[in-house]
Amino acid sequence: MIDLISDTATRPSPEMRRFMAEAPVGDEQLGEDPSVNRLQEMVAELTGKEAALFLPSGTMCNIIGIKLHTQPGDKIVLERHAHPFTSEAGGPGLLAGVMTHLVDGVRGVFTPQQVEEAAQPGDGIHTPPTTLVCIENTHNRGGGKIWPLETLEAVADKAHDLGLKVHLDGARLLNAVVATGIPAHVWCAKMDTCWIDLSKGLGCPVGAVLAGDRETIRRARRYKQMFGGAMRQAGIIAAAGIYALQHNVERLAEDHANARLLATGLAEIPGIAIDPDEVETNIVFFDVAGTGRTAQEINQALIGHGVRMGAVGRTRMRAVTHLDVSRADIERAVEVMRMVVAGAR
Ligand SMILES: *Cc1c(COP(=O)(O)O)cnc(C)c1O
Repeated sequence: MIDLISDTATRPSPEMRRFMAEAPVGDEQLGEDPSVNRLQEMVAELTGKEAALFLPSGTMCNIIGIKLHTQPGDKIVLERHAHPFTSEAGGPGLLAGVMTHLVDGVRGVFTPQQVEEAAQPGDGIHTPPTTLVCIENTHNRGGGKIWPLETLEAVADKAHDLGLKVHLDGARLLNAVVATGIPAHVWCAKMDTCWIDLSKGLGCPVGAVLAGDRETIRRARRYKQMFGGAMRQAGIIAAAGIYALQHNVERLAEDHANARLLATGLAEIPGIAIDPDEVETNIVFFDVAGTGRTAQEINQALIGHGVRMGAVGRTRMRAVTHLDVSRADIERAVEVMRMVVAGAR
């Protein structure tokens, strides 16, 4: 199966598994796991922060980030398609007790003006306090969109001027880093907390790392414990992260080239609507309305030929490139799509 459903479809490579098997370990809850500690130091350095915390998932990075900067009853500002709103099972409402103020971005990107409007303090009696802005870079539902750095900085400056904190969902921050050449510490400089996912394009089986200043990360450890995210000999899985940061970052450029190749191939198929110029990293959204079939039907037909993508709307589809798909796989995927659509018409 050429599996383009997500960049989470990767399997740990034999080299990564070997590195994991040989990792030195200790009790992570006591701060004694050398592999966890090393990974945390690597991510703190990468993001230019004082400290970092290894967590089981990106979802836990987001909820802890939200907890750190808010009180129950506060309002947070998020883009309409931001992951904590669409895909985290209502966690911000249940676990942090916050209200979400959604702003409409352009492929996930919003402006300082929108933050200002959303954060109107009102009279402070009837209105909830707004305490946090969340930014997602790259933006998943925005099609792997990279925030323009100036816009990201301007949003953070505006938020700070208004007394709000800023949290960066960097599930795919390293895709933005590799695509732009702008280092992670520059992207993260104005962020109060930021995180990277290890289980997306980096190819690890599990894990994510949250970073911030020392005091913030000390507080985050309590929430990690509270949410059941504190582990024991977690160096086994942290080692995959170390391996990935050493071996799987620069190669994200191949995923971007493959996504671009996929997009240009799909654009040539009658009935498929896509603008290849919008593909900046490893996520490709397109619409199949012109084929006369639904996304679900197209995907079922693809699966019959050994290719899987995601049906994310009635006629909207998503394909994500990653380290387990090659250029040849992408060429094959385009061929299969051409065949399936021709059959459909
Ligand atoms: C996948 C994803 C998450 C959640 O990460 P998990 O490790 O799957 O919990 C959060 N934000 C974005 C943008 C994502 O793509």
